[in-house]
Amino acid sequence: MGTPTQNGLFKKAVDDFKAGKCGPEKVKVYEKLYPGVWSLKGFFDLRDYEIVHDGVRNVFRFILRLSEDPTERAERVSASFHTRVIPSEVKKAAYKRDKGQCQICGSKVNLHFDHDLPYSKGGSSLTAENVRLLCAKHNLEKGAKIQ
Ligand SMILES: [Zn+2]
Repeated sequence: MGTPTQNGLFKKAVDDFKAGKCGPEKVKVYEKLYPGVWSLKGFFDLRDYEIVHDGVRNVFRFILRLSEDPTERAERVSASFHTRVIPSEVKKAAYKRDKGQCQICGSKVNLHFDHDLPYSKGGSSLTAENVRLLCAKHNLEKGAKIQ
């Protein structure tokens, strides 16, 4: 056997969690919007997985739950973690308005979308007004404050 794949590592984390060996693995979920531009969806608890056949091969589908979501609504995502909490149209509008730059330092590399509304407070109905671009450094600084 070679090095475990990321999917294999996640599967092991789920197996350990279900066996009561540890708490759920915390997964930081990003969505790719443009090449080099990622949107942080938030931290999710990795709760379970299922194996589905996509017509060509078996793929893992991981079942994540937004860590801070009081409704405990589970969300199924594919192994590529493609998700749609911030609609692409909203992000594209925000990207255009912010001219593809970090809104704090003006950096144009490693940009992330930052949203002011937590998902638990209606974050699914986001508009471009509460989404802004931040570079990885400033996005992380903001995240550290929330914790
Ligand atoms: Zn910055």
